Amino acid sequence: MPSLSNPSEIARETLRLLAARRISPSPENYRDIYNEIAGTSGNLAEAFPKRELQALQTALPRETAVQQKLVKRFEQAFKGKNWDEFRDGVADLVKQLANEHELPWSELFRDFLRQWENKHAGLTVARKREALERVLAAAAGNSELLFGRLQGLVRSWSGSGPADGEIPLVESGTNTETETSLPLAAEAGADSSPRTNELSGELRDIFAYTLEVIIETQLADEPELAADARMLVHKTRSATSSAALQGLLAGVKRFAFRLEILAEDRTELRAGLLNLLQLLIKNVGELVTEDRWLAGQIEIVRDIVSNPLSIRAIGDAESRLKEVIFKQSQLKRSLNEAKESLKQMLAGFVDHLAEFADSTSDYHDKLELCAHRISMAEDISQLEDVLADVIHETRIIQLNAQRSRDDLRTAKQRVSEAETRIGELELELDRASMLVRHDQLTGTLNRRGLDEAFDKEVARAQRRQAILCVALLDIDNFKKLNDTLGHDAGDAALIHLATVIRETMRPQDTVARFGGEEFIIILPDTSVEDAQTAIVRLQRELTRRIFLHNNDRRLITFSAGVTHLQPGDTQGSVTKRADEAMYAAKQAGKNRVMIG
Ligand code: GH3
Ligand code: MG
Ligand code: MG
Repeated sequence: MPSLSNPSEIARETLRLLAARRISPSPENYRDIYNEIAGTSGNLAEAFPKRELQALQTALPRETAVQQKLVKRFEQAFKGKNWDEFRDGVADLVKQLANEHELPWSELFRDFLRQWENKHAGLTVARKREALERVLAAAAGNSELLFGRLQGLVRSWSGSGPADGEIPLVESGTNTETETSLPLAAEAGADSSPRTNELSGELRDIFAYTLEVIIETQLADEPELAADARMLVHKTRSATSSAALQGLLAGVKRFAFRLEILAEDRTELRAGLLNLLQLLIKNVGELVTEDRWLAGQIEIVRDIVSNPLSIRAIGDAESRLKEVIFKQSQLKRSLNEAKESLKQMLAGFVDHLAEFADSTSDYHDKLELCAHRISMAEDISQLEDVLADVIHETRIIQLNAQRSRDDLRTAKQRVSEAETRIGELELELDRASMLVRHDQLTGTLNRRGLDEAFDKEVARAQRRQAILCVALLDIDNFKKLNDTLGHDAGDAALIHLATVIRETMRPQDTVARFGGEEFIIILPDTSVEDAQTAIVRLQRELTRRIFLHNNDRRLITFSAGVTHLQPGDTQGSVTKRADEAMYAAKQAGKNRVMIG
């Protein structure tokens, strides 16, 4: 066949060949013959149905990850005019539709939740979580594998033991990475199958929804965690590459850990509140005396409720209330004693008065009789007897009066002693809660308060395996300030420093006056570097908020030592290290923070 290049000649030759070969002149047959003559028969680019495929591609749904992946595959095939790729894509889709079978996820979830909530000997929630995390990590991106592994896990929890070939996922030492030992691992090639991806896309949507609608709304009081949740929602929706998914997984683990701590805090908070309320209610029932005491207690509770709730504030209020209650019970006893004395005194007084009245009227009668006998007397010797009787009766009445007066005086003294004791107790009561754990001058915790706070913080840090830092601050050249401005100015400077500390440090940091011009700050969940940064920030704040004495600006600085709690540490050993670091800061020129 002569090679033709002119399209009209090719067209003419095409028609001729169609007629000669007796082929029906359909568009497909025309195109085939045309390509044959033009020498382009093998070139599919010409035959590529561009317009139709584009229309098809536009109409494809793009809602799930699987759909998006399919669209992408078609787009690439379209770009490269790769008909084979189109064909394979459609074939995969059909195959997948044909193979589609529903995995009983809801049943598995029900079993899973039941086993999660059940108590198993030797299997803590933490161990369960660890096993679950390993399953999630090992089966990431493969929902069928995930299904099988979860099923195995649930079975091992339920006590029926893992099925053959499945790994009991409760042992932390078990190598779950050995994919080949798992029945579903044989299907590892299905990892990126559209069906799997679709399911993981759905799981991802549900997870994002749970984070956004359920978890985030529960975090109104925890802006940092709420922000983390929002960030995870965004990552969950956008992570498609395996690196991004790995990042997401790590983020979710961290988030879950922080949620767990928050849940523990909330449980503790609830228990603390309940305790506090019970204590209050119990005590209100016993209050019989002045309203002032009740008002005092209610004031404490009101204070707690009006500030952001923290476990520390509740613990503190509880111990204050206990002290007040103890003092009140003492006071109540004293008041009852005083009332009893008063009653006895009054009763005694009335008795004496009656007795006195009786004896005086008796005396009267007797004197009248004596007077009669005197008038009847015939000689002086008779008068002598009468006189002796008068003296005797007068003496009796005089002794009676004296005894009454003495009794009354004793009773009065008892009442006044009771009154004095009540006055003292009332004074003590007013200051009791403040004095016991707080430093009177600065309002920070005193040594006793510090001891309690330290024990509590150390126990909490150990429970959570968290870091805990202790800083010891000592004002620089304080003696000089005292000597030049006077002791009162020194006191005011201490109050100023305590105020700046309290307002600059985080609410969860504990501030205590360790003695003289030294303060201790306990910083929970803080690395030693962060603690140092925080104390340096405090130094800057102290320079900014300068201390004013009689309108004179006085710069106060301090040196500090920071250290973190180490295994086997006691309060004494930590404080000693912080003190040594503080001393090093002094040696190095003061107004600095050293790590010990
Ligand atoms: P350095 O920079 O080395 O710490 O020197 P300093 O003068 O601060 O240290 P020093 O320990 O010699 O002096 C501490 C002073 O703090 C001595 C004491 O008079 C004073 N001080 C201790 N407690 C109080 C207090 O409650 N009120 C007042 N105004 N001064 C106090
Ligand atoms: Mg000192
Ligand atoms: Mg000092």
